[in-house]
Amino acid sequence: MSWEDICRRCGLCCFSRTIYPDEVVVDFSSPCSFLDTATRLCTVYEERFDICSECTKVTPLTAILGTSLPPSCAYIEWARRHRIRLRHDKPMAVVDELRSSD
Ligand code: SF4
Ligand code: SF4
Repeated sequence: MSWEDICRRCGLCCFSRTIYPDEVVVDFSSPCSFLDTATRLCTVYEERFDICSECTKVTPLTAILGTSLPPSCAYIEWARRHRIRLRHDKPMAVVDELRSSD
């Protein structure tokens, strides 16, 4: 299995997220403009890093150290399975809409 095959194409990393010390909140009202929200697949996958400035490559280091991926991400699970995940994860909070405080 290749590194890319680990991804389960859930698309959670393609929505706006708010990173808190112990959780990642996914805002389903704010997808990347290149995400097909019906299939949860990227519409520019091969060129995504050239086209989308927000798009970042998931690497083993990201999975081990990163805080921006949701705990249910297959790469986070990969790191946990290999006992090399350094960050404690609490259950991910999911909201339909994040409201500003105004
Ligand atoms: S460009 Fe990146 S963040 Fe946007 S949908 Fe594609 S993979 Fe997701
Ligand atoms: S959150 Fe993880 S498993 Fe889901 S699409 Fe993004 S990289 Fe793949």
